[in-house]
Order: sequence, then C-alpha cells, then structure tokens
Amino acid sequence: MESMTSLERTMAVLDHKVPDRVPVALHNFLMAARMIGADFGEVMRSGEILAEAQLTAWREFGHDVIMHENGVCAEAESLGCEIHYPSDSAPHVKETILKSLDDVGKLSIPDPEKTFPLNELLKATRILVKETRGKVFIMGRADQGPVALALALFGPENFLLAAGDETLRPRILQLLDFTSRMNVVYGEAQRRAGAHGSSIGSVGTSLISPQMYTELELPGDRKFSSAMRAVGCRSFVHSCGNETRMLTRLISSGADCLELDPLTDPKTCKQTTQGKVSVLGMLDPHGVLRRGTVDEIRNHTLDIMRIMAPHGEFMMGPGCSLPPETPAQSIHAVMECARTAGAYGADGSLPALNS
Ligand SMILES: [Zn+2]
Repeated sequence: MESMTSLERTMAVLDHKVPDRVPVALHNFLMAARMIGADFGEVMRSGEILAEAQLTAWREFGHDVIMHENGVCAEAESLGCEIHYPSDSAPHVKETILKSLDDVGKLSIPDPEKTFPLNELLKATRILVKETRGKVFIMGRADQGPVALALALFGPENFLLAAGDETLRPRILQLLDFTSRMNVVYGEAQRRAGAHGSSIGSVGTSLISPQMYTELELPGDRKFSSAMRAVGCRSFVHSCGNETRMLTRLISSGADCLELDPLTDPKTCKQTTQGKVSVLGMLDPHGVLRRGTVDEIRNHTLDIMRIMAPHGEFMMGPGCSLPPETPAQSIHAVMECARTAGAYGADGSLPALNS
C-alpha cells in the first residue's frame, strides 16, 4: 500500500529517510518526444510541446520524477552557439561561439527568462509544476556542467589542448568560472519557475582523467551544488560511463544525488555512497531497456534494486537518456517492479524482493 506522493517519496530519498517504496525517475526526453509523434525539432524548441510530451509519458507510466530538458545544447545556444535540431534525434552544436581564449572576457550571462531556448524550458517547468499539482518531483535540468559547456563553446579539441598547456591554464579557468556561473544562473531560474531539483552533466573519465576532474570540473560542480542548496533546490550531478574510480570525487561535489549508469560497479557504488549521497539510475538504457525482453528487464531491475535499494538513498531509472524507440512495455515493467518488489519494510529492507 503506497502512503506517499511521488514528491514525498523522492524527497524522503534525498533526505536520507526510507520512503514507502523505491521511486522511479525517467530520463526520457527523447522517448517522450517520440510518444507524441511530433517532429523532434519542433518539440525541443517549444516549452508547451516539451511539457505535453513529458505529461503524456507521466500519465502513461506514473513515475515519480519528471526529468525535463531539450538535450545538451540549451545553455550553449543561449550564449550564441549555432545549434542543429534534427527531426528524429537530440540537438547538437553546429558552430562554436568562442574562437579564441582571448575572447572569454567578452562572454556575458544572458537572462534565462528572456533568452531562447532557456525561456521555453522554464515555460515547460511552470506547466509541469502546475499540471502535476505539487505531487511529482520536477527536475528542470541545467544540463551542461562547467566543462561540457566549455567544450560546446570552444570546441572539444581546442579545449583539451589548451587545458594541457600550463601557460593557457589561467584562461581555461576563467572560461570554467564563466560556464559555472551560467549553470548557477540557469539553475536558480529553474528553481524560481518551480523546479524541485536541477542537474548538470559532468564530463567523466570517458573524456578526462580523475586529476583533471578534480582540477577543472569539481570546483564548478561544488559551486552549483551549494548555490542550489542556498535557494532550496536539490542538486544532481550526472556522469554516465564507468565512474567507479571517481565516486569519492563525485561525492565531494556536495550534490544531493549522483546520476549513474551500471558501467559504474553497482556494489562498489552502494558501499561508497551509503550515508553520503543518493543515487539515481543504474538501469542500462540501451542494452536492456531499449532492447531487452520483459523478463530480461525485470531481472535486471530486480538485480539493481537488490544491490542499490536497501535502506533507501536510491531512485531507480535509466542511467542516461532513454533512446526514442524504447518500448513503453519496458517502462511499465520497471514501474511494476518498483511498485511490488520495491516496497520497504520498517527496517529499510525490501521484504518482497527477498522472498
Ligand atoms: Zn549520460
């Protein structure tokens, strides 16, 4: 018997309390766009249609956390990058804006309420908050973390070459200070629009070394987490790929929750994060949720819950964005597992999962 709303359930996890059952968070902006059958380029540029897509998915599945965004280019576009919006996949950067590190000082932070597409995303947040009537956790994602946004503005090769050059390091740090401020300004605007939480995407070990993470990414992740805490917004740091070696560093960002996928070893993850930070994700979006049979999805979901869910601090969902063609039945299977096997006993164990 469920005794909490989705919002209460999710807040319990973030407050290190045991909820009634494991909450489910869906990283599904592409799948949601596909569910309403509209051209992705149109969906990703309209607050109304983005909200309609998310509400369509939420009415179908009844998940607890709505994670909304239009991809990883929103802040880059608001700063002047040219963005390509394909009709059936996520937008990407067509033209960077920063041609030389000498020009970092010329960048200025736009007003998110007046600047496309941030204004549309904030509109979507307001609609989602209103339509779900305070019962669901709305995450308005700030998406690109400090390094990822710098890569979008300056180009990945330019950035990585400059980051390795000691003489250019001060300019790189100046750029990262700017991108980090952009994250904070947009995250604060998401909070004002009613979002309960916001998230930034960290560039993990797939691109940079743990030492580079500490020097370049971590200061911005910390600033974001503490700025969100100051305005009563829950902070999430997303890092997909194998981040097992990075867990203690990610925890030290001070985020309320880490978004991880199963390439990070779940057992090590549970041991390392327990009592320190909540974890969102750990289900395999591509190999299992997109392609698996219902039985495979159920087994995978139960396996992950068995490791991650005891004593709370866990919300279940895909560890990264679901592919557009993910079958609805996959998500129904995950929801069913959460509603039945994911129910907590008073001691924080999951009786149905172990019987
Ligand atoms: Zn990811």
